[in-house]
Amino acid sequence: MKKEANVILAKCAKDQLYGIRIEKRDHDWVRTWAFKLQEEMAEKEGFDKVQLTGSFYTDEEYPGCPYCGTKKCFVCGSCGKVSCYDGSDRVVCNWCGAGGKASRDDGALDVTGGGF
Ligand SMILES: [Zn+2]
Ligand SMILES: [Zn+2]
Repeated sequence: MKKEANVILAKCAKDQLYGIRIEKRDHDWVRTWAFKLQEEMAEKEGFDKVQLTGSFYTDEEYPGCPYCGTKKCFVCGSCGKVSCYDGSDRVVCNWCGAGGKASRDDGALDVTGGGF
């Protein structure tokens, strides 16, 4: 079976971009790897254009954010981009600065819903 994989762009603290490699398993996306990325590189590769639907899970081998090490991230309800999530009750988007209340961490993210 052919593996379907992609890279989504995420941001840690200010200007710290990284790519998350995701792999399709059944109907869900599983995060398998993360690596540091320069903005120009991301644009060149088109990582900033990747739009995906479905749930996101984390593989046991997923190393976490290359900057802060968190394995959790969230999708901003305002801009739809991915930021690191430190596990606190409130989240702040590292892209647009929008804040929100974090949903309970059930290990899955809905990238189409936009809710926290
Ligand atoms: Zn981080
Ligand atoms: Zn945002």
